[in-house]
Amino acid sequence: MNNSAALILIKPDGLKKSLTGNVLARLSETKLEIVAARMVRVSKKLAEEHYQSLSDKPFFKALVQYIQGELHDRRKVMALVYWGEDAIRKCRNLAGATNPEEAEPTSIRGSYGRITTGGIYENVIHVSSDETEAEREIKLWFTPDEIIVDLYPSKEIKEGEKKVKVWK
Ligand code: UDP
Ligand code: MG
Repeated sequence: MNNSAALILIKPDGLKKSLTGNVLARLSETKLEIVAARMVRVSKKLAEEHYQSLSDKPFFKALVQYIQGELHDRRKVMALVYWGEDAIRKCRNLAGATNPEEAEPTSIRGSYGRITTGGIYENVIHVSSDETEAEREIKLWFTPDEIIVDLYPSKEIKEGEKKVKVWK
């Protein structure tokens, strides 16, 4: 058993095209467990941190605008964590290649993605690329209390009167 967790984002184009149900139905083929889900309004800071490894690319600025929903008038994404055997590989297979024109036609990106005239790949979903990236991304998008299993070490801190969990 090689259990892993993957961060999935249904990107603003997916929400605008009403593809949430379709994408979740496709992902349910994996028989993985959803262990976290929330709607997120994406700040510029979160967008830039999420895509930090691409910050030197010419399309970085447009990519940050895209994930913030500025190109689709949908200023939100749906963030989920899928967990189970080979989660990353299974979810990336279903998502298909980054470039929707090269993606296998029945994959999620092959079915629903497009390339804008500006050259950005609007490819409906994000899936973490490997376990290291998945851990970094999941800790960025979720607090320990928002995930129903203990994926990574956390600790309790006092915030005024109440105790909250943060990543270690
Ligand atoms: N992207 C793009 N043009 C490129 C490469 C990437 O518009 O030439 C966008 C696309 O939306 C992609 C995201 O940037 O999903 C992140 O790129 P990455 O290389 O991490 O691909 P992914 O892991 O999403 O398949
Ligand atoms: Mg990636």
